[in-house]
Amino acid sequence: MININAIHKSFGDVEVLKGVSLTVAKGEVVCLIGPSGSGKSTVLRCINGLESYDQGSITINDRQVDVVSKDINDLRTQVGMVFQRFNLFPHRTVVENVMEGPIFVKNEPRETAHANAIALLEKVGLGDKVEAYPQQLSGGQQQRVAIARALAMQPEAILFDEPTSALDPELVGDVLTVMRDLANEGMTMVVVTHEMGFAKEVADRVCFLYGGQIVESGDAHTLLTQPSHERTQDFLRRVL
Ligand code: ADP
Ligand code: MG
Repeated sequence: MININAIHKSFGDVEVLKGVSLTVAKGEVVCLIGPSGSGKSTVLRCINGLESYDQGSITINDRQVDVVSKDINDLRTQVGMVFQRFNLFPHRTVVENVMEGPIFVKNEPRETAHANAIALLEKVGLGDKVEAYPQQLSGGQQQRVAIARALAMQPEAILFDEPTSALDPELVGDVLTVMRDLANEGMTMVVVTHEMGFAKEVADRVCFLYGGQIVESGDAHTLLTQPSHERTQDFLRRVL
């Protein structure tokens, strides 16, 4: 479904992606791990066209991701994104936050968007918070609203950029549970995370990014327990 072929990306003189290739099949969960600054967020941002790339190609269902093409908004609706900071609209209720995209981007009737939003909020365990405002919720609850908001667009895949990194430790589990459920339902996911337990349990594949290159990738269990590259070994020793 997602096909990244040797992409390069520079910011000014600094090349931050140096030929990254990655394919993600429908229903697959791929975790991207690696030290800060290795290019993980930039890879995700290139996949859904928030950032351009200089060389190589990215296709989603055989359609080229090209930030200047007129399809780009349509492509963006196919790939949801969940950020470390939830970016909810503070002056809108939880349910309004979830309805916004379907109404304004997909022209869904308000009633349909509302009914879908309620169902999604129930799914992420927030059926009793639909009329609350974001600041009345914990970080973990806000992140679950952000996941419901991404799902409301009926994306074909969701990209997660360190979705639990900003959360207090006791709130991480509920968010990971929602993500695990999504994975089990067959959602295609690319997840940047430092939660190695989640990666080991849920990911079909783990890729270790270092200095703008994928230095090692493989099935989650093998990569996390018997990494073959010295850089991967060193990184895992620090985070585990
Ligand atoms: P990670 O998510 O793995 O921490 P990023 O993809 O955010 O890494 O960043 C990779 C590198 O690119 C870093 O050196 C970062 O400073 C740089 N970078 C990211 N975004 C920008 C930007 N908009 N302008 C300049 N440099 C950037
Ligand atoms: Mg990042």
